[in-house]
Amino acid sequence: MGPTVAGVAGVGAEPVEGELAGVFPQFQILELIGSGGMGRVYKVMQPGLGRVAALKVLMPELAKDPSFVERFTREGQALARLQHPNIVSVFDIGETRGYCWLLMEYVDGVNLRQVMQSGSLSPKDALQIIPGVCAALEYAHGQGVLHRDIKPENILLDGSGRVKIADFGVAKLSEVEGRRVTLTVSGSSLGTPAYMAPEQIERPQDVDHRADIYSLGVVFYEMLTGELPLGRFPAPSETKGVDPRFDNVVFRTLEKQRERRYQTAGEMKTQVEQVRGAEGPPPMPSGPVPPRRAAAAGEVSGGGRVKEERVSQKAVWGMVCTVTGLLVLLGGMFVTRRVSFDESRSRMMQRGVAEQQRAMMDAAQAAMEQQREMMRGMPGGAGGVLPPPVPVPDLRPGVFGETKNN
Ligand code: ADP
Ligand code: MG
Repeated sequence: MGPTVAGVAGVGAEPVEGELAGVFPQFQILELIGSGGMGRVYKVMQPGLGRVAALKVLMPELAKDPSFVERFTREGQALARLQHPNIVSVFDIGETRGYCWLLMEYVDGVNLRQVMQSGSLSPKDALQIIPGVCAALEYAHGQGVLHRDIKPENILLDGSGRVKIADFGVAKLSEVEGRRVTLTVSGSSLGTPAYMAPEQIERPQDVDHRADIYSLGVVFYEMLTGELPLGRFPAPSETKGVDPRFDNVVFRTLEKQRERRYQTAGEMKTQVEQVRGAEGPPPMPSGPVPPRRAAAAGEVSGGGRVKEERVSQKAVWGMVCTVTGLLVLLGGMFVTRRVSFDESRSRMMQRGVAEQQRAMMDAAQAAMEQQREMMRGMPGGAGGVLPPPVPVPDLRPGVFGETKNN
């Protein structure tokens, strides 16, 4: 696995640290706050500005290797491109007396690995953290930047729990890639294998933003279960009694084929927020999903969405009913396909699939009925009160509700 965080205490006494004061007279070096595979990160004060910042210094021995220098420069370039509340901001980058350095926003907090190791992370916390990472990734991807090393060490949390992604050291910049940058670093690979998407391991040149989504899925799984999803891994809810409504979200991010994953980080964020926002006990494994809850979420299986807003034209409403009915049916096929697709996942979903399908058929029929009713009343004037939205049963156990255990 990747490099571990050295932590704050007792790491800053090496000679190189003393030397740094001479190299960077413009900063007061306050303390060592982290250490990874590339360098050390110090909390520094810029007296002129009265600002505390984080100074990342490439290990001097690595600074002799052009591929590391390139990687380091790339981090600065990637960060300079990105301005987002969930991504650390870069202030400056440079090279001074053989030391490559990066000055950035100081995040007064801890990294996610440290929180996980402290044992204080609950599934509920995971639901607070993941959407922030998704937002950062969605933005970065939109700017043509892939992170490629999403893992707990690179996810920082400030004092108020706000998420900040750090360490764009192996980021891929869409334009830079044009000149075929090869970053094979002796003794280490690009990314961290345990968190890497299958295609990132097998065909590193072929990664796209969905590799980051996979890595975040690994982090999510680890946050929920304390384990990495290796081999034929169990559903989160099977291992630690986590609410089954998490399962499908996690599985979707961890699909081996990227076409089957969430296609954007924004889509993943929406799903996670729905789990977070849902209230009440988890649905029973058998029996239909309560229509109200399903309709409120406006969610259909397969990631599509149905607007719950009231529309002003009955004809449009009729179409929505039809589409909803069809999607409900498709949802049934989706569940069935997944069950046959992956044994480990089928264990989780087998319970109640038949019941769910029956419920879906009922709901689809109801939708059609409702549409027929609507069509009959079509001549009615505009502004008439529309019927409530058609209930859309959500088939995925991971979509609604909170956790059983905190
Ligand atoms: P590496 O490229 O060597 O892995 P990172 O950029 O990931 O280095 O930084 C190593 C550690 O330093 C992080 O895991 C985190 O704990 C800490 N760190 C990094 N950047 C910051 C920052 N801007 N503010 C506070 N701590 C940071
Ligand atoms: Mg790192």
